[in-house]
Amino acid sequence: LYVEHPLGQGQSVPLTREQAHYLFGVMRLGVGGGVALFNGRDGEWQAEVAEAGKRGGALICRHQSRPLQMPPDLWLLFAPIKKARTDFIVEKAAEMGAARIVPVQTDFTNAERIRQDRLQAHAVEAAEQCGGTYVPEVGDLIRLDRMLTDWQGGRQLMFCDEAEAGRASALTSGPAGAPWAILIGPEGGFSPDERVRLAGLDFAHTVSLGPRILRADTAAVAAMTLWQQAMGD
Ligand code: SAM
Repeated sequence: LYVEHPLGQGQSVPLTREQAHYLFGVMRLGVGGGVALFNGRDGEWQAEVAEAGKRGGALICRHQSRPLQMPPDLWLLFAPIKKARTDFIVEKAAEMGAARIVPVQTDFTNAERIRQDRLQAHAVEAAEQCGGTYVPEVGDLIRLDRMLTDWQGGRQLMFCDEAEAGRASALTSGPAGAPWAILIGPEGGFSPDERVRLAGLDFAHTVSLGPRILRADTAAVAAMTLWQQAMGD
């Protein structure tokens, strides 16, 4: 169960109404019942129900069952598309172990706003369902050109460009151990200006995800798989 509260030996964790409903109404736990908790920072803790009520309750942390497992330093930058597909991208990125998920506004991105809180909740659910101890942070919508101007830390960029469609690239370039980001474009792809700018950046590596033009949500999953295969995490 995901909670926002800090977790530690003997720590009491108050429950929201929804959490109480889930634990006591749906899971039928009572006082003394056990539940595994994580908050994305303190690892996984085994806790016991101390108080159970209709509108709330409290758990007590007993012992840590797993330490925090940080994912590799991989960001997914993607241009938001239709709502359900954007939700899918965030969910899959969290499952695949992205450390940060950043919606970017490119020249051909239609969305002008996103519901960051909704997307963050999807990331929490995905981490919960795949037994992760870490929850990736979902950023606010940011313009791609601004992001590239403020680029820092030697992070390498896997620029997935549909114009390169052909044999899937082997991701071999980039300094060993460097952090990475994957960039996926919107339905309309990248603009000529964006391609020129990206081609001139020494940290950007243009890659193909295979001979077919994939939908952005499929491309995000394919790119993360290709990255994992090359980087081994
Ligand atoms: N509308 C564009 C077109 O028809 O040329 C296609 C854009 S595609 C639906 C969305 C994004 O997925 C692209 O901007 C790119 O980042 C990624 N993508 C899809 N297929 C790809 C491929 N074969 N190689 C590299 N990137 C790909």
